[in-house]
Formats: sequence, C-alpha cells, structure tokens
Amino acid sequence: MNKGQISEIKALLSTPKNIVIVPHRNPDGDAMGSTLGLYHYLKLYHHNATIIAPNDYPDFLKWLPGDDTVLKFEANPEESHPLIEAADLIFTLDFNAFHRAGHQMAEVLEKSEAIKIMIDHHQQPDDYAKYMYSDVKMSSTCEMVYNFIEMLGDVAKINSTIATCLYVGIMTDTGSFRFPATTSRTHEVIGQLIEKGAENSQIHNNIYDTNSYSRLQLLGRAMQNLKVIPELRTAYMTLSQAELDEFNFKKGDTEGFVNYALSLKGIIFAAIFIENKQDSIIKISLRSKGEFSVNEFSRAHFHGGGHTNAAGGRSDDDMPTTINNFISILPQYKQELSHTQNGL
Ligand code: 5GP
Ligand code: MN
Repeated sequence: MNKGQISEIKALLSTPKNIVIVPHRNPDGDAMGSTLGLYHYLKLYHHNATIIAPNDYPDFLKWLPGDDTVLKFEANPEESHPLIEAADLIFTLDFNAFHRAGHQMAEVLEKSEAIKIMIDHHQQPDDYAKYMYSDVKMSSTCEMVYNFIEMLGDVAKINSTIATCLYVGIMTDTGSFRFPATTSRTHEVIGQLIEKGAENSQIHNNIYDTNSYSRLQLLGRAMQNLKVIPELRTAYMTLSQAELDEFNFKKGDTEGFVNYALSLKGIIFAAIFIENKQDSIIKISLRSKGEFSVNEFSRAHFHGGGHTNAAGGRSDDDMPTTINNFISILPQYKQELSHTQNGL
C-alpha cells in the first residue's frame, strides 16, 4: 500500500461512512482480533461500522471487547444483507479470496459495489480489492492492522481496547510468539500494545486457560489416535464425529491439537483430520516446519491453502478413504520430507 493510496483512504475515512468489516469463515483469534481492533479504531471517527462474521467462532474469543456487536451472516441474513448493501466501504480481514467467507456470504460480497479494502497475510490473494494491503511475511493480520493505523498517522489513538484485540491475534497466529514469522518488529508492536494497556498475562489466561474438562479429554483421545511415519517425518491424528460427540465437542475445542503432532522430535509435517458429518467433509489442518509448504500441499490435494507452515483444507471422502489417500500421496514428497535443513 503506497502513500497515495493511504492518502485516499485517509480522505475516505475523514467523514463518517457506512462500513462493514468481514473476517474469514470459522474466524480464529487473528480474524476476530483484527476485525474488532479495526472496528474500535473506526468507531473513534464515528463511522457506522459493523463486523459481520460469516459464522460463529469459539467461546474462548467471546470475552473480546465488542464481541456483543458482531453479527453472524449465516445465522442473521436479514440483518446482514441491508448493511452490506448500504456499505460505502468493506474491509476484508485475514483472508485472500471471497470464497473464504463461505459460499453464502461470498455471493453477497461479490455483488457489492462498496469499495473493498483487504488487509491480509495469506498467499496468492485474489484481486477484488481496490486497496490491498497484502503481505505474506507478516505474522498476523493484527500486526498489519497496527501498521495500517500507523500509516494513517494514528498510533497515538490506539487505546487499551484496540490494543487488547490486536494483542490477541498476534499472540494466537504466532503460537505465542514462537513461529518463524515472529520478528523483532512483531515484538516491538507487542511492546507498544502492552504500553497502551493490553493486559498480556490476563489475555493469555483468557485464551489458553479456560479449557473445559471435556476438551482436555478430547485432546487425550486425539493423542491416542496419533500415528507416526518416521521415514517421512510425518505425524497425523484423526477425530471421528462419534469421538467428537462422545466428548461434547464445541467449536474451537480442537484448536491447536495439530501442534502436538508437530512437537514430536524429528517430525516436520503434521496433520489432523476431523470429521464433520453435518457438512459431509473431513476438515484438515496441516502444519510444517522449515521449507515444506503445506499451502502448496493443501492446494494440490485438499481444496485448501493458507501459509507455508500452516494451512487447511478438506476432503469429501470418508475418514478411511481420506487417510489412505493422504498416505498414498506422501511418497511424492519423500525428498522434501526426508532431507535435513537448518537443524531440522
Ligand atoms: P487452521 O488449520 O488453523 O484451520 O488454518 C491454518 C491456516 O490455513 C489459516 O491461516 C487458515 O486461514 C488457512 N485455512 C484453513 N482452512 C483453509 C481452507 O479450507 N482454504 C484455505 N485457502 N485456507 C485455509
Ligand atoms: Mn491470520
């Protein structure tokens, strides 16, 4: 995003506008943190801003300031449609293509004539937005929203509410500041957010230490289901719908499970396959260490995408077929998966 575009956006935002802010479907910490952070910033300028999430998100995000104002498109189409139709500006945050908002919302976004502004760090973005702030090297969309506010010359306006929201997304998308996209700049931004009133320890507690007993039991089951293919440095686990039901699964309960597979010594590729009977799919989360691109892997085989080291996708087959398919694909990547790189 260049200086000219920033001035144009500044001019657009200089008078109150009807604004809709959209995260991706199944929003995560970065999606909700960035949309809420931006929402609270725009409210300082008295814009008529609304966050419309395609669908619901996990309970561990529901303490975020402004959560009660978020509309859910698929559950409230009658309220959502007029707001999108009346929007002068639509911000799309933490995703790179309309279909990531789910097909119902994507259709409406495509028809909208509002000016679109994308802020996102996913690979291979579509070019629907008039203003595009896309940078795949960024740790999180929340870090980019901080930069965006800085480009608009408004860092001084970041209050504890905005800081709290942005802290959440940087923390969750960096695995608490440990993934390779975490830079000295990320830590500088985090430092600034703490200065501005983000209660870091409390935020970690709210997100990570509010487990239910049944979620930990579900984690136990996923661990029991863990399989390792040492020669391909790959580990994967499964959760069937029956297992999810047994442990009273709630949205967000499986968040982070896949990282346990990646924490095995010597493993550089990890996957979790989670059955969703309602949508008749197996939802897949993929993680890697080093150069092996799970984004490419998911695009090539599982209708998905994401980042080099974190991606998602789906399979329309049943669990045994999906797993057989996965195992049969792996040898194609033998060279990449077995070679040693940078101490991995
Ligand atoms: P997760 O495994 O945590 O659901 O997602 C990991 C990353 O991949 C996130 O950045 C997420 O936005 C992206 N992602 C997850 N599922 C999909 C998908 O089905 N398609 C695409 N393009 N990206 C996905
Ligand atoms: Mn993100």
